[in-house]
Amino acid sequence: MPLQCTAFTEVPQVDGAAALLAIPEIEDDWWEVLPEVALCELGEHDETTEHAVVLWYNLDLARPRLWMVRWTDVGRFAIHRFETAAQCLARTPGVEECLFFAGHPLGHSWEVKDPVMATLEELPTSLRRRILGPKDED
Ligand SMILES: [Zn+2]
Ligand SMILES: [Zn+2]
Repeated sequence: MPLQCTAFTEVPQVDGAAALLAIPEIEDDWWEVLPEVALCELGEHDETTEHAVVLWYNLDLARPRLWMVRWTDVGRFAIHRFETAAQCLARTPGVEECLFFAGHPLGHSWEVKDPVMATLEELPTSLRRRILGPKDED
């Protein structure tokens, strides 16, 4: 299972707001879906793939389903791109839908693993319990 990419970015607020307001179905509390900082949600990928995170899901299934920001780091800066996209059509046998965009790199949303949790799972149970506390233990 791929580990989640650890890239993050400061989301340009003016460009993001302009892109959101251009969506006809956007809700009145649109600013709540525009974070100041976004973490890439994709599985680890190479530099030819842009980082990406879906910020809003359109409930109108006849329209592009996802509104997302993609970015590429260039030195200390990043080039951002806001866009709508179709959702990946993959489903688990239990009908869990993939939350990523169609054509995303390897690893559907349910396969991508939090790298911190993956590291913790490799620790001996006693040590993991000391870190997480007994409540979070299986
Ligand atoms: Zn990434
Ligand atoms: Zn997928």
